[in-house]
Amino acid sequence: MSHIELDRERCEGHGTCEQIAPNIYQLDDEGLVSILVDQPLPDELVGAAEAGARVCPLAALRVVDGS
Ligand code: SF4
Repeated sequence: MSHIELDRERCEGHGTCEQIAPNIYQLDDEGLVSILVDQPLPDELVGAAEAGARVCPLAALRVVDGS
């Protein structure tokens, strides 16, 4: 089972992750990323979650596999 690790301290709210995977990542009222989906991630969302995490310029997102 995969899940998203988010380090909000790193996020600067550029929104690149949201552009790539708007069904998973969204900027909240504070202008920082929030995760829209339940965890652990359903298998069909892992690819999109990883794609969004990869484009984060600040490495605030990581998709990890494991229980
Ligand atoms: S791409 Fe990274 S820095 Fe930008 S909003 Fe997403 S998590 Fe935050």
